[in-house]
Amino acid sequence: MKVLKFGGTSVGTPQRMKDVVKLITDGEQKIVVLSAMSGTTNSLVEISDYLYKKNPEGANETINVLEKKYRKHVDELYTTDAMKQQTLAFLKEEFNYLRSFTKGIFTMFEEKIIVGQGEIISTNMVTNYLLEQGYNAALIPALEFMRTDKNSEPDLEYIREKIHDQLNAVPGKEIYITQGFICRNAYGEIDNLQRGGSDYSASLIGAAVGASEIQIWTDIDGMHNNDPRFVKNTSPVNHLHFEEAAELAYFGAKILHPTCVQPAKYAGIPVKLLNTMDPTAPGTIISNETEQGKIKAVAAKDNITAIRITSSRMLLAYGFLRKVFEIFETYKTSIDMITTSEVGVSVSIDNTANLNTIVDELKKFGHVQIYHDMCIICVVGDLQSDNVGFESKATEALKEVPVHMISYGGSDHNISFLISAQDKQRALQALSDNLFN
Ligand code: ASP
Ligand code: MG
Repeated sequence: MKVLKFGGTSVGTPQRMKDVVKLITDGEQKIVVLSAMSGTTNSLVEISDYLYKKNPEGANETINVLEKKYRKHVDELYTTDAMKQQTLAFLKEEFNYLRSFTKGIFTMFEEKIIVGQGEIISTNMVTNYLLEQGYNAALIPALEFMRTDKNSEPDLEYIREKIHDQLNAVPGKEIYITQGFICRNAYGEIDNLQRGGSDYSASLIGAAVGASEIQIWTDIDGMHNNDPRFVKNTSPVNHLHFEEAAELAYFGAKILHPTCVQPAKYAGIPVKLLNTMDPTAPGTIISNETEQGKIKAVAAKDNITAIRITSSRMLLAYGFLRKVFEIFETYKTSIDMITTSEVGVSVSIDNTANLNTIVDELKKFGHVQIYHDMCIICVVGDLQSDNVGFESKATEALKEVPVHMISYGGSDHNISFLISAQDKQRALQALSDNLFN
């Protein structure tokens, strides 16, 4: 069985929904994970925002606009009167449900319910369309199987057991539609896998059913070897190792949510990134295989702050790094890059909410310098230590760019450079020119 996930833009209009249906009706059995129609989750967040601010009129206004939009989709999507009426009745119930939240108290629990309705709506609309067109399809509700544990981590055992129950309840269907993003927490309350989380849903579902393949459909032809917004002549990468994909997703490639990689990786299920606008394009395949000796791609992460702590106390001492890292842990600030010398350590962070307090604490241990407006450039590929020349090619490409930190050897798959944000564009272009073109 394959798992196919379609994001918000892929189901963003009735026409797009019909295009998705063309792609999923090839006779093969599959589970299809859908996001909310693009823009909907943002509107639902806006509704919640009004309700937090105790402004029910504002919320109702947004609900009305959204409902009007959806009612129009019904006419465009369905041909039979019966299905139009059935879907309009469903939407009426949905939007009245949303309105019910404008009357009572509003907390995080209600917010979680509201932001999850976009996926409930999109999956019902597509399932209704499939049924109207006579396909052998069923909707399996994610809230019946997708669950996180007390640490807010997916409960894979539970998911595996319950999704099988759901599939067995409606056996022999060609297409099983389900919601991305939404889940229940350890207490059974409605929750979600964070914004952009439907990639994660697909990966978890793939792992739970032992899928032969997980396909993530978007509107570009796979992961590119550099950021097309800043660099000319980028091209799709045909194959990536899971670790390479994880680095790229974390360091800026927007096409795949970073959390998506792990479940598929551990289950050894290949993930394909495919393009709804060009379905026959090869896209990108992500698997546990490494293409030997190849530099694959470059990504950049913005809004980075670097902190350098120098201290002669570090010389020949042990425990210094622990003290430094404990400060970051205390203030829940994660570190992206680290480099050390015998008398100092440099780290980079992207969350500066507690920067001032962290710096005050660090000053107890040494001299502290802060560098704002930095950017991490991450180059991924096969750089096992017997593969000579990878790091020299990357550094050679950046020979005109001032480099603040270099991190190499943390994994077999990447080398990262910290540079000034103002040098980002030319650094990315230089890497593309030297490594790929
Ligand atoms: N609809 C959710 C969001 O916009 C989840 C997703 O699309 O992945 O964040
Ligand atoms: Mg997405």
